[in-house]
Amino acid sequence: MIIDLTNEQKEIRKAAREFDPLKAIELDERHEFPRDLYKKAAELGFIGLDYPEKYGGGGAGVLENTLTIEAFCQADSGIGMAIHLAYLPAKIVRQFGNDSQKKRILPKVASGDYVSAVSFTEAGHGSDLTKVDTVAVDKGDRFIVNGTKIFTTNASYADFFVVLVQTDLEARPARGMATLLIENEGKFSKNGTMEITEMPGKMGLKMASSGEISFRDYEVPKENLLGKDGRGLINLLEFLDESRIEIAAQSLGTAEGAFLKALSHAREREQFGKPIIEFQGIGHKIARMFGDLMSAKAILYYAARMCDIGSKQHKTLIPMFTAIVKYLVPEHAKEIIDQTINVFGGYGYFLEQEVERRYRDNRICEIYEGTVEVQLNTIVRTLNTVNINFLKEMLV
Ligand SMILES: Cc1cc2nc3c(=O)[nH]c(=O)nc-3n(C[C@H](O)[C@H](O)[C@H](O)COP(=O)(O)OP(=O)(O)OC[C@H]3O[C@@H](n4cnc5c(N)ncnc54)[C@H](O)[C@@H]3O)c2cc1C
Repeated sequence: MIIDLTNEQKEIRKAAREFDPLKAIELDERHEFPRDLYKKAAELGFIGLDYPEKYGGGGAGVLENTLTIEAFCQADSGIGMAIHLAYLPAKIVRQFGNDSQKKRILPKVASGDYVSAVSFTEAGHGSDLTKVDTVAVDKGDRFIVNGTKIFTTNASYADFFVVLVQTDLEARPARGMATLLIENEGKFSKNGTMEITEMPGKMGLKMASSGEISFRDYEVPKENLLGKDGRGLINLLEFLDESRIEIAAQSLGTAEGAFLKALSHAREREQFGKPIIEFQGIGHKIARMFGDLMSAKAILYYAARMCDIGSKQHKTLIPMFTAIVKYLVPEHAKEIIDQTINVFGGYGYFLEQEVERRYRDNRICEIYEGTVEVQLNTIVRTLNTVNINFLKEMLV
């Protein structure tokens, strides 16, 4: 054990590991969201672990979510990631929603009835979200939204979307934005249109849909403003501090599943009269993979715990540590899964072993919720400004 987990945290992880994903390849081939498993995960209490109990949650934190996501993705990357991505965006409602918004939304997510989505990316604004072209004009009791979002995960079946909009067109970069809670068309549409178009042809993550969403004069009641107007990007960045840790947990679990397969195969597969693990070329690969896995696990749990403690001192460092895990864990995972393919030889190249699928699924963890390069920018920005004595203290 890398860190001392409480008995409750150990129970959560054990239960999540025993959550048996079925028919993963079939679902992957059909590009089908594992709705029944999402519901089952909710029944077992895994969804909304970080929500207060009064909103149907588990009253726990980022570390408990991390343990669950890791265990799900260890069992199956596609199913684990699809389930996690269906409830992840609802975290913004937990963080910035008022009591009535939380009451309306969170219990339905925690029960597995609602799937959530978050839409910040646009064709012209990916890494650079200091301004967005989706505009919400204040009309007193409502906003009128116009613009197009792309790459929204779960777009075609989400029950609600958290959408980043520009409310003040004259504002300085990174200002004048808001996060709006937009429930799915049909459920509450008043005036205007909200059109969702599926974006096909993804490399992996096939059990989750990706879509483009176009709003035309779409009316959103003022009561659906999440947090304060003008603080949209700040809300998003605070959400990313937690969500990036959870995305890294997807990678860690996905790599762990691959490693376990590589180890079993290397011990069982014989060539030249002995198990291939006894050839130094393979044995050293396995050793390095395990070392990389353990270091990724240690930094991930460390960052998750830092996020949960959230003291004044930690608050300065949280964005840097979430950035560290968000680039480091997926990169380690990519290498571990790639080496797993080598250990399997030709068999690793075929879908049946579910190794190449793990490679494809993991690849997105280096891109969404901020690319590797964007994470490195955050780290260097902090290192360039942080008090060196403070850092020295931390390193001791
Ligand atoms: C499968 C999938 C699911 C997604 N899900 C969602 C979702 O649910 N909601 C949502 O809003 N978005 C989602 N995204 C969008 C995702 O967050 C963006 O793709 C990502 O932030 C990068 O933006 P971009 O694709 O426009 O690339 P760009 O920003 O154009 O970047 C292109 C390249 O330039 C580099 N680059 C850019 N700026 C800098 C810089 N300052 N310094 C160094 N390098 C830089 C990038 O690192 C990258 O390598 C998803 C994307 C995919 C592929």
